[in-house]
Formats: sequence, C-alpha cells, structure tokens
Amino acid sequence: MTDQTLERSIALLQQVARDHAPAVFASSLGLEDMVLLDLINRHARSIKVFTIDTGRLPPETLDLLARAEAHYRMRIAVYTPDHRALEAYVRVNGINGFRDSIIQRKDCCAVRKVEPLGRALHGQRAWVTGMRRDQAPSRSEARDREFDAARGLDKFNPLIDWSLGQVRAYIKAHDVPYNPLHDQGYPSLGCAPCTRAIGPDEDVRAGRWWWEAAEHKECGLHIASAHTASTEASLAGNAPGAAASVA
Ligand code: SF4
Repeated sequence: MTDQTLERSIALLQQVARDHAPAVFASSLGLEDMVLLDLINRHARSIKVFTIDTGRLPPETLDLLARAEAHYRMRIAVYTPDHRALEAYVRVNGINGFRDSIIQRKDCCAVRKVEPLGRALHGQRAWVTGMRRDQAPSRSEARDREFDAARGLDKFNPLIDWSLGQVRAYIKAHDVPYNPLHDQGYPSLGCAPCTRAIGPDEDVRAGRWWWEAAEHKECGLHIASAHTASTEASLAGNAPGAAASVA
C-alpha cells in the first residue's frame, strides 16, 4: 500500500468526524471493517461504531466482536432484528426460506439487516462503510463520498480504492484482530448459511449467495446513491497494490 492511499483514507475519516457529526461506522466485522475500526480508533474516535447481529452469524464472527472490544477497549453497539418482523418472516417462509427465491432472500436480508441498519442510522448525519469498489460488480461505480438519498444522509467509503491485498497488508502490519475464517477460504463473510469458502481461482464474492447471479448479490444495505460527489479534488490520490495473504 502506498502512504498516499492510507493518508487519503485517514484524511477522509477526520473530515467526517470534524464536519459531519454525528457520524457512525457500520461494521460487518469483515476484513475491510477491521481496518476501518483500527483507523477510527487511531484517528477519528468521535465516530461511533455499531454492528448488526442478524441471528445467523457464524460463531467466529461473534467471537471477533468480543475480541475487538477487548483489543480496542471499547463497546461496539449491537443492533438485532425486530423480533416480531423476524417471527412473521419465518412463519411464512420457513427458517431457511431465503434459499427458495431471490425475493425471499432479499426479504430475509431486509428483516435481519436493513431494518436494524435504518434504526442504527436514525438521527445521524453521516455513515461510514468499508465498501471497496472491486468487491462486486454492483459496487464498481461507488465513490468515496456519496449521498444516501434513500436514507437522507451522507455516506463515506474511505477504503473505496483499496485492493484486497492492501487490506490484508494493513491488517498484518498493524496486528489488527480479524476473523480466522478469512484464512480458511472465506474472503467475504456474512451469515453462516449464505456464505461458503471459495477456491483459489474463484471471484471474491463467489462465496456469498452462490446460488444467485452476481448482479443480485447485495443485501440492501448499500442502495445505489442518487447523487455522488468525489472528494478527489480535496484529497490526495492513491494507487492499488498487489494481493497478499493475511496469514
Ligand atoms: S445473508 Fe442470508 S441469512 Fe443473512 S439476512 Fe441475508 S438471506 Fe438472511
């Protein structure tokens, strides 16, 4: 990773903390989000952190949540699905109904992820995510600063230009806690029943909702923005680096 890449991300986080409070970081506890958690702890501590426990996360992810809280000596707010909406979904669709159709899968994500996210973002001026442009075809047009028109607040993606190799290099260099599943073939992690390990020649997102076409592979957390405004003009440029493993 170049110093410019890192400096650009830090500058954006500091800008968010200074000019867009109250701002929150929505952490999935994935590799990118562990990098952001580390950066926020070092450079922008006024940005609050939360995660969503969907009820279907692998135990390794919940263990990581506890380890991260101990490592950074902080409490990470945990949002859970509305129990009435979840019970209604399961009553109609079954406990694994998300496998039966794309609509049922997106409905499950809506109940378990999107609704809690909306509650977590209520009253905020901005939210921060660990989204990277090369994570998925649906993210190829994403920018480091967007306006989340659906939710009515600014959205910042400080790692948008980072490669997976840069993310892994940062984690290794700074001894950042991360999910051991990433060393077992899971570059992208989500709920246990919707995530599988991938082979060395498969795309990073191939292990998420693998029974669906690539263009459907979003859970509704990252709705395409109506208006985007890059901060390229005010912040330094960057360059992607080569891939490397964490372990
Ligand atoms: S990832 Fe799977 S289990 Fe998790 S909320 Fe979405 S459909 Fe449901």
